[in-house]
Amino acid sequence: MDAPPLPAAALSAADIVRLWPLSRRRPAAERVLALLVAVDGRDTLGYPLGTRNQRLLGLHQMLVRRPIEAHVVCPGCRTDNEFTLPVQAVTALARAEQGAAVRLDVDGVESAFRLPVLSDLATADSLHALAVRTCLEPAVPQLSDGDLDRLAEAWEVLDPAGSLLVDLCCASCGHGIAAEADPADFVARDLDGLVDELMRDVDVIAGGYGWSEESILALPAARRRRYVELISETRSPARRRAARP
Ligand SMILES: [Zn+2]
Repeated sequence: MDAPPLPAAALSAADIVRLWPLSRRRPAAERVLALLVAVDGRDTLGYPLGTRNQRLLGLHQMLVRRPIEAHVVCPGCRTDNEFTLPVQAVTALARAEQGAAVRLDVDGVESAFRLPVLSDLATADSLHALAVRTCLEPAVPQLSDGDLDRLAEAWEVLDPAGSLLVDLCCASCGHGIAAEADPADFVARDLDGLVDELMRDVDVIAGGYGWSEESILALPAARRRRYVELISETRSPARRRAARP
């Protein structure tokens, strides 16, 4: 399914504070889905996982404007390895065709399963439930764990941006690590950081000048930051002496 292009005008600071679900108790997948529905509309529920991931990474690039850092612990030596998600590589992957389906041989009989979309993933609580929802045959065949694994692999081939697996070498012992990353977790983490920063700015400026949230968020970012600095300098009891240029 073709997602619409990113909006020509980037989402504003006020938009992101308004649209981003603040409750951190909700799962990241639910929060990013709510944001995408607000930006792209109800069509979002028909996106395969790969399209969701590409849209999320595009929104992250537009809003956060820096690489996505991730960590993985080496299973060999327990060293914490930092790496960067390959955002460009994932956004450049081919999108799954609308209505794409895989054919799976189960005990000598072929059955077709369509690629799951976000509305399926939001309601199915297991791989088996997802297979039942997406089966295109009049009767769902009996599926073993092995059949379900083959089905998941076939879906991944059809929708390569749907799973993000990064191969890296441990910086300490050289052990090969396959790190699986869900873009929803990283986008939620970084949007929480961005919205926190904006709300702190509102808190400082509203406290200093009594301006409204709306007018503060409408300021260009550089001016908003400068007002925060001015207020902080005024409040600071011990003014630091600046070196001369
Ligand atoms: Zn290691």
